[in-house]
Amino acid sequence: MSLIEARELTRLYTRGTETVRALDSVTFTIHPGEFVAVVGPSGSGKSTLLQLLGGMDLPSSGSLTIAGKELSRLSDTERTTLRRDTLGFVFQDFGLLPVLTVAENIALPAGLGKVSQAPSVDSLLERVGLSHRKNHRPHQLSGGEMQRVAIARALVRRPKILLADEPTGNLDSASGARILELLQELNQQEGITLVVVTHNDTLAAAAGRALALKDGKLV
Ligand code: ADP
Ligand code: ADP
Repeated sequence: MSLIEARELTRLYTRGTETVRALDSVTFTIHPGEFVAVVGPSGSGKSTLLQLLGGMDLPSSGSLTIAGKELSRLSDTERTTLRRDTLGFVFQDFGLLPVLTVAENIALPAGLGKVSQAPSVDSLLERVGLSHRKNHRPHQLSGGEMQRVAIARALVRRPKILLADEPTGNLDSASGARILELLQELNQQEGITLVVVTHNDTLAAAAGRALALKDGKLV
């Protein structure tokens, strides 16, 4: 059974009189437990694809089914629920709130409901190797540590799928390697499906498979 199924997924943008095919009839299937890299040059449609997968944007045509639900058939509320219950997000710039401590940043999404099922902040901190940083604030951490906090936060709602946009983009290669290691552990030990947009060749090579985009098409 597939976890993500895209069929002739297309996203058009209009700029003045011009139509940009940001994503052009892309068809693929991702199975539970896969680690998939999304690669391609700048402007090839990677961000557009990730926004569609994250339910943050809707296709112009074609269909996208995640965990058995076709996104365009869901109401906004149902789509938000799917996003919260099934997906975790990790970004290049970490997206941590500077005024909150590490523990508070991680606990934030748990405040959105279903708290009883959430793993404890302490267990998440241990999972990402940052127990000793619990009460620090983001500016006191290295980039690699900030990204590990962001990953811990993404795990609070026990997502089936982790979507990451250039998770090592702002890191030196040693920190990037540790983030890759953590992502691989989450994939192999906990069966979390990974979809990672990346320009990092080591990361792309570690993935089981790459979706390569060029001019909005799979190549
Ligand atoms: P990538 O992430 O691979 O750099 P994007 O998905 O950001 O590519 O962009 C794909 C194409 O769609 C590019 O030509 C980009 O300029 C265009 N595009 C993306 N988002 C928009 C938007 N909101 N409005 C207009 N054009 C867009
Ligand atoms: P990335 O570094 O992830 O490739 P981009 O520069 O492609 O980031 O895009 C950043 C954001 O701006 C995305 O949400 C994308 O959809 C939007 N975007 C990209 N190109 C355009 C554009 N030509 N017009 C409007 N929005 C755009």
